[in-house]
Amino acid sequence: MLEIDLAAIADNWRTLRARHAGRPTAAVLKADAYGTGAARVAPHLYAAGCRHFFTAHLDEALALRPLLPGALVAPLNGVVPGSEADYLASGIDPVLSSADEVRRWAALARRTGRRLPALLHIDTGLARRGVEQHEIPGLTSEGAFKTIALRYVLTHLVAADEPDDPANIAQLRAFNAACVALPPAPRSLANSAGLWLGVAFHSDLARPGAALYGINPTQERDNPMRPVVRLRARVLQVREVASGNGVGYNATWRAQRPTRIATVGVGYADGWPRALSNRGAACFAGTSVPLVGRVSMDLSTYDVTDLPALGPGDWLDLLGPGCAVADVAARAGTSPYEILTSLGRRYARIFRA
Ligand SMILES: *Cc1c(COP(=O)(O)O)cnc(C)c1O
Repeated sequence: MLEIDLAAIADNWRTLRARHAGRPTAAVLKADAYGTGAARVAPHLYAAGCRHFFTAHLDEALALRPLLPGALVAPLNGVVPGSEADYLASGIDPVLSSADEVRRWAALARRTGRRLPALLHIDTGLARRGVEQHEIPGLTSEGAFKTIALRYVLTHLVAADEPDDPANIAQLRAFNAACVALPPAPRSLANSAGLWLGVAFHSDLARPGAALYGINPTQERDNPMRPVVRLRARVLQVREVASGNGVGYNATWRAQRPTRIATVGVGYADGWPRALSNRGAACFAGTSVPLVGRVSMDLSTYDVTDLPALGPGDWLDLLGPGCAVADVAARAGTSPYEILTSLGRRYARIFRA
């Protein structure tokens, strides 16, 4: 059972907006709102006053468009050839993310005889998407921006989670230089961690994602965000395993003492990483119990020998009080982002407002 605290998400958004000195602050909803459920999260943030939303794909934006009247809904992945008509028909503004996309959008605007709105992504170092700075003069002299109404110019930080990384200030300078070379337009810069880099990284629109969903946007400080996700799993069975016997596929764990094993119905098909085999832990009433043996597709197993009262039907906490997303991610050798965005489709999602 996956509990999503919508009130905590809205509180986190208000915290981030305050961190941005009250300036406009978007919500990034890609990957189904980082695994939490965009169809429920988006209207809740809209009701809290959020008016700018980013997805990754056009399809994600199309699904949310009717829920967010009058708000900006922009897919970050850009305009793949052939999707232009879908953008025009749906009133969704693309984030133009290569020189080719700018040219295609400008040509479409010329054909339709109107200035078409769009956002523009400038690459300042991530080297994934975005118009490169050296391409701007060429696009300008071709008149490409004459037929485009730039709603925002944005760039994305490489290492905002490492405040001392010189890349941050280098990107800020490059971004400012690029904006000066472009027609005047509002700017959008910081992601979640970027809001902890100081006022120089404020802009006309911050774009936090992770912190909305409770991921700590600061490197070493206590998490200023409210936790959002609680994942609980029911114990299906408790069995006695004799000393020396194995548990799970290939018996990668063997009992060193007479052991009680609790089996729960959550496995890697639910996004519970197989890398947690013999490394993970769950919580029962504040006590941590180790995950033993391999995580299998639909099941995982915990050593509950020290909890004699625990039995079938009891709930183990996998994420939540006592098992922070960050700790689970560290044990699995991955990032909290991956733990959240992998949360499985099979969980019953319960939204608290
Ligand atoms: C994912 C993403 C964000 C949000 O980043 P977080 O670290 O989750 O806050 C912002 N901007 C762009 C371009 C992104 O791809």
